[in-house]
Amino acid sequence: MADVEECVFCKVARGKIPAYILHKDEHVLAFHDINPQAPVHVLIVPIKHITDLEAIGAEDADIVARMFQAARKVAQELRFESNGYRLVINNGRPAGQIVPHLHLHVLSGRSFGWPPG
Ligand code: 5GP
Ligand code: ZN
Repeated sequence: MADVEECVFCKVARGKIPAYILHKDEHVLAFHDINPQAPVHVLIVPIKHITDLEAIGAEDADIVARMFQAARKVAQELRFESNGYRLVINNGRPAGQIVPHLHLHVLSGRSFGWPPG
């Protein structure tokens, strides 16, 4: 699939682009964002190339659950769990999605405004 060959996060998952990886298993990958927007900015991505929320199939329910579990695990391991953290999905271009491979932003280490910008 051409999408997968060119996809930045698929390349990270395959080790073709280096990243500071915090967690990897057969379903999900967690790594530090290259352009952090907070003192902690981790990305959680499925290993499977899923472009966005609309592309999640019924068979992917376990993967999505594992993405949230990985966020919690990272929060525990990096010890920011008790400080609070924000999970963000920019879904679609108008919402700020640049990389067309589903990802959860995990942000912590500062206070966050609401509504988000
Ligand atoms: P989006 O705007 O699609 O929700 O978020 C994409 C995120 O991926 C951005 O925060 C951007 O900094 C991050 N990013 C893009 N390319 C790379 C990369 O090659 N390595 C890492 N670690 N992060 C990346
Ligand atoms: Zn991909």
